[in-house]
Amino acid sequence: SAQAPILAADKLAVRYGSFLALSDVTLAIKPNTIHSVIGPNGAGKTTLFHALTGRVQASSGRITLNGRDITHLSDDKRVPLGIARSFQVTSLFQNLTVRENLRLAAQGRTPLQALAPWRGVEPDGEATVIADQVMSRLGITAVADRVAGELSHGQQRRLEVGMAVAAKPRLILLDEPTSGMGIDDIEAMKALIRDLGRDHTVLFIEHNMGIVMNISDTVTVMRAGRVLVEGSPMVVRDDPEVRRAYLGNM
Ligand code: ATP
Repeated sequence: SAQAPILAADKLAVRYGSFLALSDVTLAIKPNTIHSVIGPNGAGKTTLFHALTGRVQASSGRITLNGRDITHLSDDKRVPLGIARSFQVTSLFQNLTVRENLRLAAQGRTPLQALAPWRGVEPDGEATVIADQVMSRLGITAVADRVAGELSHGQQRRLEVGMAVAAKPRLILLDEPTSGMGIDDIEAMKALIRDLGRDHTVLFIEHNMGIVMNISDTVTVMRAGRVLVEGSPMVVRDDPEVRRAYLGNM
């Protein structure tokens, strides 16, 4: 459709020293879609997330959010504009409860952001309401008072998605939300992402092709720092270049 993208990258490049990790990446994320990013290890998927969220600076190209140029905004200035993100590695306060973790996320504080000055978990009515809403939506209310570090791997990954949701973003980026999960947890995560797609825009990196093909509106395939193909799951699945990149494993 002709709908304006919520987030767009135009000829984006990222360098790590002399290594060109992303080059000429042009991408448009349409609002209220589920958009996945796939590609072999080292293709640049996580680097793309780092660039879109401001964790690394683009060495050239442009990033726009709702038409506004955010290329040179730091990550903490992008969060209030409605971008939230979960990480490939666990990013929870391990010693705090599920509810406390979500309250902090609702206040815009995560373990990966600067926390100074640290004042502990303050009682905050609005944050508590948001935390309870998110737990209910994610089906984790029963573990509200459990310490995050004691949750199962699947529950921790679910809570990480909840941390992103609690920031009330319009755009949620999820980095390999099903990594390390068993079949039941994978199915639950798939249902959760699909549910989030009803009222958010979701961009996610995923290696599980079943999920990608099942719930994505659009798939971007990356290889060696570039976009190889972008299109619907059907278009991507039938693309000869993609088939070659995956050696037929789709
Ligand atoms: P995976 O599926 O394994 O997570 P990916 O597609 O997310 O891979 P990236 O993590 O973005 O790929 O890495 C892209 C390339 O950039 C890789 O060759 C990687 O070795 C390199 N790279 C990533 N981070 C850095 C860094 N901080 N310094 C130098 N090179 C880096």
